[in-house]
Amino acid sequence: MLARSEQLKKIAGQTFDVVVIGGGATGSGCALDAQLRGLSVVMLDAGDFAGATSSAATKIVHGGVRYLEEAIKDVDPKEYHVVVRALHERVRMMENAPHLTRKLDFLVPSYSWLNAAYLDIGLKIYDWLAGSARIAPSKFLGREETLKRMPNVKKEGLLGAVSYYDGQFDDSRYNTATVLSFVKAGGAALNYARVTALLRDASGKLNGVTVKDQIGGSTFDVHTKVVVNATGPFADAIRKQANPSVPTRMRLSKGSHILFPIEKFPTDDAMLIPKTDDGRVLFAVPWGGRLLVGTTEQEVTPDEEYYVTKEDVAFMLKQLNHYAETPLTPEDIVAGFAGARPLVSSGENESTKSLARDDVIEIDKTSGLISIMGGKWTTHRAMAEDTITAVQKALDKPITDCATKTFKLYGGEGFTENFWESLVRDYSVSTETAHLLARKFGTAAKDVLMLAKTDASLAQPLIPGHPYPQAAVVYVVREEMAMTIEDVLARRLGVQFYSWRDAIHAAPVVAALLGKELGWTDEQTRAATTAYVEKINRWLEHAGLARETASGSSAATSSAN
Ligand SMILES: Cc1cc2nc3c(=O)[nH]c(=O)nc-3n(C[C@H](O)[C@H](O)[C@H](O)COP(=O)(O)OP(=O)(O)OC[C@H]3O[C@@H](n4cnc5c(N)ncnc54)[C@H](O)[C@@H]3O)c2cc1C
Repeated sequence: MLARSEQLKKIAGQTFDVVVIGGGATGSGCALDAQLRGLSVVMLDAGDFAGATSSAATKIVHGGVRYLEEAIKDVDPKEYHVVVRALHERVRMMENAPHLTRKLDFLVPSYSWLNAAYLDIGLKIYDWLAGSARIAPSKFLGREETLKRMPNVKKEGLLGAVSYYDGQFDDSRYNTATVLSFVKAGGAALNYARVTALLRDASGKLNGVTVKDQIGGSTFDVHTKVVVNATGPFADAIRKQANPSVPTRMRLSKGSHILFPIEKFPTDDAMLIPKTDDGRVLFAVPWGGRLLVGTTEQEVTPDEEYYVTKEDVAFMLKQLNHYAETPLTPEDIVAGFAGARPLVSSGENESTKSLARDDVIEIDKTSGLISIMGGKWTTHRAMAEDTITAVQKALDKPITDCATKTFKLYGGEGFTENFWESLVRDYSVSTETAHLLARKFGTAAKDVLMLAKTDASLAQPLIPGHPYPQAAVVYVVREEMAMTIEDVLARRLGVQFYSWRDAIHAAPVVAALLGKELGWTDEQTRAATTAYVEKINRWLEHAGLARETASGSSAATSSAN
């Protein structure tokens, strides 16, 4: 049971070795590593865990083909290092959470022999750099094989495709599993807990933080020996609170994604579009029954709300349709999301797309603040390892072994590919429900279904025909600290990332279950539903699509992410 009220009691006014500010990929990775090394740790997030960038990734576990190309062009060993480290980390990331990851074949359709040869050589280097961490060798597929595996790829002039392997993961569930593993290891975690001030001793060194509970409204202090700033796009705000004279380091780049029914571009493999009109790459990836297409690149500031705009839609569709035999249209879009890449800059004039996805650890001499900035999801564990080594040095403690290299995350213990069969056998659920729960919760799916077994009303589907039982909502409120409709439908269950319209239809049911668990009044339940439905309608409108009502005229689809 991960009750927020219990966590609050464990945290308010207490003393820890380390306070980690930020509960995204970087913060939760740091918190888990520090806790497993025997430190006492609290992790605080101003919003929901994974509520910012860490649920807005393309969900690829990768070394970075584009970064490799840049490293070769720039003859830059530092950029090589970024790619090589990520290539090794991708294997660890997949082994640590087998239920939330899988290997994926990426095809790059080729229409010129010269381009195919260029790509083939580049991907052989990618394989070679991966060394023992190679997933499978890259190879050239002929035209017939390419069309068999990707029937809607543009046929005219197609020679075949270069194929290479990377991984795919469920970003928000990976984040949740890391937080839960951290708490299970004895750590304290609180969402909707904003750090509003940094406390310091007579010498100016940080020794605590002031926290505003965004839900209960109270303010309290937490005392600590070290503060880790893992706030991604918001890192500069904390750095400047600690030491107003530090220069701005973060440059934020918005990236949007759109999702289509997979039937619009049927494939089990991902497609890499090697050169977009603005000189980047674009991915079209099969993702839980959808085709996930992304991304864009646009410089932004930290405190904006990021939407998928009509312009983003037009750009991505134009790039995708260069490669599609039957074009996809804006009306085919079923969902979308956007987030800001937290890139670290040394100068003012670089474009965001030229900034390497490297990470930087900064130790502020005046205040002792340790900031971990930049990086990517694939390298979050290694970033955390380096950060916590820096924390142990700051604490003047011996550097102990990092335990996260081979640490099975929550739900991953005992998981096998055919685990879902035991759910069908033991809980009499459909194969669709069993697959979905196994993929989202791993072996903890049994606990979700136990709720439905003990209370038959929770065996009802979320919305008619939907594979999620209502028990999944109750489970994520009781066990995963979901506090809002969006926490449930976006980051815990993924329904909002699968279908905006399904999410709107499910909102009243989710609100009623949440309200019952959290003691909301009827008025609070109604207000939460209205606010959520309005928020998703703003997403629809920004993307240029028609609004939807909770009672809805358009039919809900029958599957989930
Ligand atoms: C479009 C896009 C696509 C991407 N695709 C991939 C990919 O396919 N593969 C990959 O490896 N990487 C990818 N990335 C990169 C990856 O998503 C990020 O590097 C990673 O999620 C950053 O995590 P973070 O924890 O540093 O930041 P965040 O996830 O943004 O977390 C920072 C947290 O700090 C909290 N916070 C801020 N201020 C405070 C405060 N005062 N008090 C308490 N909490 C605070 C915020 O609420 C937030 O939750 C992508 C990024 C983007 C934007």
